[in-house]
Amino acid sequence: MNKMMLKAPAKNMIDPFGRAVTYLRVSVTDRCDFRCVYCMSEHMTFLPKKDVLSLEELETLCGAFIDKGVRKIRLTGGEPLVRKDVMVLIERLGARVKAGDLEELTLTTNGSQLTRFSKDLYAAGVRRLNVSIDTLDPEKFATITRWGRLPQVLDGIDAAVEAGLKIKINAVALKGTNEEEISSMIEWAHARDHELTLIETMPLGEIDDERTDQYLPLSKVRRDLEQKWTLTDLPDRTGGPARYVKIEETGGRLGFITPLTHNFCESCNRVRLTCTGQLFMCLGQDDDADLRAILRNDGPEALADAIDEAIGRKPKGHDFVIDRNNSAPAVKRHMSLTGG
Ligand code: SAM
Ligand code: SF4
Repeated sequence: MNKMMLKAPAKNMIDPFGRAVTYLRVSVTDRCDFRCVYCMSEHMTFLPKKDVLSLEELETLCGAFIDKGVRKIRLTGGEPLVRKDVMVLIERLGARVKAGDLEELTLTTNGSQLTRFSKDLYAAGVRRLNVSIDTLDPEKFATITRWGRLPQVLDGIDAAVEAGLKIKINAVALKGTNEEEISSMIEWAHARDHELTLIETMPLGEIDDERTDQYLPLSKVRRDLEQKWTLTDLPDRTGGPARYVKIEETGGRLGFITPLTHNFCESCNRVRLTCTGQLFMCLGQDDDADLRAILRNDGPEALADAIDEAIGRKPKGHDFVIDRNNSAPAVKRHMSLTGG
């Protein structure tokens, strides 16, 4: 979308720290066809269907945020593409991009369904996807995701590229698992013109494994990479937690998402909506607003007021810690509920 054609919002949402909230992440389902070890336990209990908003309700909520100045929406989950009929929502939100109400509609996906959906995503107005791959070793991939298979995801990426979608790869840095492989993932991603972003594990929700065993600080990864590559800091900011470098040898961009080693909250421009209509003003805090009750029982004005009230409670930042004394999750909900 040409920014010149973007319509100005009626008003903007400004939080108590003067940050404009222009970015909404929507977890459209808490369900998933994978069971990644850092994200879920193997035997997850998912939300009862009655608690989950219909696609029409999700569209209404997204519309209320667009009216209030949200310019980018990212659909996530759980796995967004396993939600039944999710293309209906994607097409309706894509129409808001085409109408100039929204700058961008994107998805974060595990890639398992991309051979099926890529063409439809492009036709709906999606231009970029984040695909999560933590390793290029098929056996390790099956171990990390428990239920996922690497060839299916790689085929999905090929289909997405063929459909015209720009791909960014997200990889969670895991101690002793993909630690040795990060350089080869950089080579693989940059050779295909995919940006790569590394993520630190965050203490969200109970999982079967010990988080301190998985946690690999990206400060260490960066030091290791500097032995092999020339990293040049880039000034690029997205209002999110990522900081970027250019790898001079490949010419590609590498992102670091470091909620634990660096605090990234001062420029936070986003809020997160769950598939039950809970609005979380911060990924790392428990405070939320229940928009489902208002959506189901009251009118659009009450909904707009509730959103304003919630934005007025957006905290300055989170206080994640992972160490031996703090192995319990900082927040009880899983990443799959709030969306990554
Ligand atoms: N299923 C989709 C996927 O995997 O891309 C979208 C949802 S997933 C929750 C979004 C992102 O969060 C993924 O890149 C995943 O690796 C990451 N993630 C999940 N749990 C995490 C955790 N505890 N710490 C850090 N990243 C996590
Ligand atoms: Fe599913 Fe994504 Fe969580 Fe993996 S990280 S279990 S793919 S929601």
